Amino acid sequence: MEIDYKGIGLKVGLEIHQQLDSRSKLFCGCPTKLAPEDSKYYEVVRYMWLTKSELGELDPAAAYEVSKGRKIVYRVPEGHACLVELDEEPPHDVNRESLVIALAIANALNAQPVDEVYFMRKIVVDGSNTSGFQRTAIIALGGYVEDEEGVVRIQTIALEEDAARKVDEGPGYVIYNLDRLGIPLIEISTAPDIVSPDQALRVAYKIGLIMRLSGRVKRGIGTIRQDLNISIAGGERIEIKGVDKLELIPKVVKYEVMRQLSLLKIRDELHKRGLRPEDVPETFVDVTDTLKDSKSRIVRASLEKGMRVYALPLPGFKGVLAVEVSPGRRFGTELSDYAKAWGGVGGIIHSDELPAYGISESEVLQIYNRLGLDGGRDAFILIISDFEKAERAFKAVIERLKYAFIGVPRETRGANPDGTTRYLRPQPGAARMYPETDIRPVRIDESILMEVRKIYIPKPEEILKILIEGHGLSHDLASQLIRDPLLHLYLDLVEELKGVTSPQIIASTLVATMKSLKREGVNVDKVDYEALREIFEAVGKGRIAKEAIPDVIKAIASGTSVDKALDSFKSLSVEEVEKIVDEVITSNIDTIRTRGPEKSVSLVMGKVMSLVRGRADGAIVNTIVRKKLAELSKQGGP
Ligand SMILES: [Zn+2]
Repeated sequence: MEIDYKGIGLKVGLEIHQQLDSRSKLFCGCPTKLAPEDSKYYEVVRYMWLTKSELGELDPAAAYEVSKGRKIVYRVPEGHACLVELDEEPPHDVNRESLVIALAIANALNAQPVDEVYFMRKIVVDGSNTSGFQRTAIIALGGYVEDEEGVVRIQTIALEEDAARKVDEGPGYVIYNLDRLGIPLIEISTAPDIVSPDQALRVAYKIGLIMRLSGRVKRGIGTIRQDLNISIAGGERIEIKGVDKLELIPKVVKYEVMRQLSLLKIRDELHKRGLRPEDVPETFVDVTDTLKDSKSRIVRASLEKGMRVYALPLPGFKGVLAVEVSPGRRFGTELSDYAKAWGGVGGIIHSDELPAYGISESEVLQIYNRLGLDGGRDAFILIISDFEKAERAFKAVIERLKYAFIGVPRETRGANPDGTTRYLRPQPGAARMYPETDIRPVRIDESILMEVRKIYIPKPEEILKILIEGHGLSHDLASQLIRDPLLHLYLDLVEELKGVTSPQIIASTLVATMKSLKREGVNVDKVDYEALREIFEAVGKGRIAKEAIPDVIKAIASGTSVDKALDSFKSLSVEEVEKIVDEVITSNIDTIRTRGPEKSVSLVMGKVMSLVRGRADGAIVNTIVRKKLAELSKQGGP
């Protein structure tokens, strides 16, 4: 599907969150490292309570969370969280180091620092903050990022605390670890100036790069998170949370545009059919009897548990629920998301997808008859659950169906790994910020600015020079790397393996080896940052030869553990290589004598390299082969 993004008025804004690498958390002395897996911890259990604002209003997002009545369990790991994270002790003064790092990044993004930093409380309702709010402060305003499709303004740069880390979740409970709560984050929000999916990627990449170049931010998965705001003309501004891979950004933008366009088409179709929101019924019907003898396994298993089958008749809706809104997701899927989120049911079954799930054609007809509907023009939705859940689920589905006549509902969505999105919750009310009274404001004075200036962040244009002169890469490799989304990874790896592994090996693996393996169909995504670091460390320390890198990556990608993969390709000792060279010379002695030992280097090299298959460094093999052949010459000619 080709989309004219300019024509449909696409506007995208980015919100990038990156953990800062300060020594302690933002409001206490706890470290900014996550607790090890086997840490000792105690647990605290809490429940969320809803209060009205001074004006008597309830926040829709908060009301939604409290309606779930979930038990919230907080794990407090020893040495990684204290009474501040538990909200039992007031926050300490703002961590100065974090503020300085954030201001240095702001400076590199051409933003102006504010005169005084005031923390605010932003309501957070999913339990990931023990206090029920996140502390956040604007530290700079008015920056920009240059891009070939136009300058993208930066609206605000904020310093804030990271939320607790979700460990587990199930019916009626959620478990958080408090080790991550309070780690300082910089939040960079652009204006909705981005006009294409590719520009969104480039800008996110450039901002990410500037942060990495400060050398003062955290590395690895989960340390950077991107949220997107996406709208088109006539659509709605949709928040999409949790895009944790840069490469996913263009897809997320494209699929969200497709979704909004499809929802607008559905709206037009409903109007064309002469339907009105009032035509969506407010009540549903118990149709358990029609399916009581069904052979469908889902239906039978549910009925045995005492559940019932409820149906919502939808006169005039035939075909609408089957409209595809993004790849693999139909309008029915959107409704199903609402039923799951608000009713806690497994989902919905709708007539446009039937017969299916073991529900037969004649059963579908019976339901149509039972509801007094016409199978040629009408539709229905089934929910199998107990009455209470079905009631809540249908209420949400009916509201959503009525909104289909208006267009795109304002909502917060979550990114799926394939770039599509799912409904998360309604967008919170605008008035969700209020002043934090426990934290003293910080004046940004000359002494802070002096510390800020000590952090040197090169401009992206200067990186080429650093790669060539600082890291010793060839001009060719450096210019490939600079355009590669793996540049972040490269810079992190080089910094971590300084003096161990040469930057050339890291660079050529990332820009060449990984790509060609991917083309061969190797699932290189399974080889994460940690695995790469271990591979490069093994090369640097001589545990494996650089020639073995592709084989090791292949092994890890197919599920072998990193350690096992490294072991099975570990380097041969010099003695072992010498033995192989001797064997090759002996078995080819006639040819070598005919050609002369000096002219047989490449012949012997080729045979030896195919025997050692990556388990020895080519340069070392070459030295040994030349030495052995030279010895042969000295022993006398043919
Ligand atoms: Zn603490």
